[in-house]
Amino acid sequence: ALVVRHRMRSSGRWATAMAIIKEFEEKCATPIGKLKQVADAMTVEMHAGLASEGGSKLKMLISYVDNLPTGNEKGLYYALDLGGTNFRVLRVQLGGKDGGIINQEFAELSIPSDLMIGTSEALFDYIAAELAKFVAQEGQDFQLPPGRQRELGFTFSFPVMQSSIDSGTLIRWTKGFSIDDAVGQDVVAELTRAVEKQGLDMRVSALVNDTVGTLAGGRYTNKDVVAAVILGTGTNAAYVERAHAIPKWHGLLPKSGEMVINMEWGNFRSSHIPLTEYDHSLDTESLNPGEQIFEKIISGMYLGEIVRRVLCRIAEEAFLFGDTVPPKLKVPFILRTPHMSAMHHDTSSDLKVVGSILKDILEISNTSLKARKVVVQLCNIVSTRGARLSAAGIFGLIKKLGRDTLKDGEKQRTVVALDGGLYEHYLEYSKCMENTLKELLGQEVSESVIIEHSNDGSGIGAALLAASHSQYLGVDES
Ligand code: BGC
Ligand code: MG
Repeated sequence: ALVVRHRMRSSGRWATAMAIIKEFEEKCATPIGKLKQVADAMTVEMHAGLASEGGSKLKMLISYVDNLPTGNEKGLYYALDLGGTNFRVLRVQLGGKDGGIINQEFAELSIPSDLMIGTSEALFDYIAAELAKFVAQEGQDFQLPPGRQRELGFTFSFPVMQSSIDSGTLIRWTKGFSIDDAVGQDVVAELTRAVEKQGLDMRVSALVNDTVGTLAGGRYTNKDVVAAVILGTGTNAAYVERAHAIPKWHGLLPKSGEMVINMEWGNFRSSHIPLTEYDHSLDTESLNPGEQIFEKIISGMYLGEIVRRVLCRIAEEAFLFGDTVPPKLKVPFILRTPHMSAMHHDTSSDLKVVGSILKDILEISNTSLKARKVVVQLCNIVSTRGARLSAAGIFGLIKKLGRDTLKDGEKQRTVVALDGGLYEHYLEYSKCMENTLKELLGQEVSESVIIEHSNDGSGIGAALLAASHSQYLGVDES
């Protein structure tokens, strides 16, 4: 069979390649009817997850945030944001009533990849050491009243079962992290231990998911923000729920009557989601098989990898890049979503950018224009499916909020704070997501739903929540 295949004529090769692409495209199709089914399935699961612990694949985690920032927050606070490819440390001086953000500084570091799959102690020691260095650089522009302990908002972007605003145990890792001994541990206790080891006197006063931080940061600048979505390395959403609508909440009814819920929608799955053989094998070979299925088809960690898998198949069966499969093309996760995005956005007539990424990243030189077009087509199919499904997720959330229809003809503004590198940098993706959301909402309602880019709002949000949960008075009287 091999001999025959090697002798396959060029026309036969292209027919095979086209057949593979066509089948893939059909399997990835997301007609509007299907998206509405996905959105409805999402709202059903939201109800189930709120009803009882473990009631759904959607964990609908209680954040213990029952008050969002008002603008009265005051003082010097730190934040530490850990969750994707980078981690950030930040300090912010809040001016209290009418004062706003007086001053802020941050530092961004990447997490060494061995620490993402090592031990809990090594990870937290590294983070605490960087935090200590950053705190040591605090200048005159920042002021802490004498005798006060520094306080920190900890943005930890993984599923955590919280027991209070400043404690919670890691349910499991997602994205590229896999550190067994941290699962089931209180992440605040782990961080606090590491911080003390550095000789740093600092208290973690708020533990928040990045979606919750983004929601808090968004609300600080815009009163109409009711939900936050992250489309980055991973994906997730948080929103403000009525405490009465959370049957599994047995605590006191918050004064505000509200509670922020961290959906953990990355773990959503539904028979309406179009999955292909490539998605199934990606999942099986991943660090977390069977989990985070929604995340695996819409978020930045995986989109490039899906494209690589389809390309690999076309190279094997239709000899897209010559008689053998280029060795680099077989390396998992070598083609990253930023590469994919750069290729997708290539507007040159000879697809120069595609050619150079294939050459530089996959070591495939002298690719034909025809082959480059195949690559762009695959980028388009994979990003379109992801973007349309993320729009369906947001539509489901808006439906749950009851904001998918206009109340008495009055216009109620619904603002969703959005952040994440995928949304920010992959413009074909974000454009498609926003257009699809408009299509789902309909012309009239879509005018009152606003997607607002919250640039790194999660860090500021965590600092704001650290202020409102400070052991001192972190807010001005209103
Ligand atoms: C995590 C979420 C997080 C999201 C975005 C997911 O993998 O489970 O907790 O909010 O990524 O960072
Ligand atoms: Mg950003």
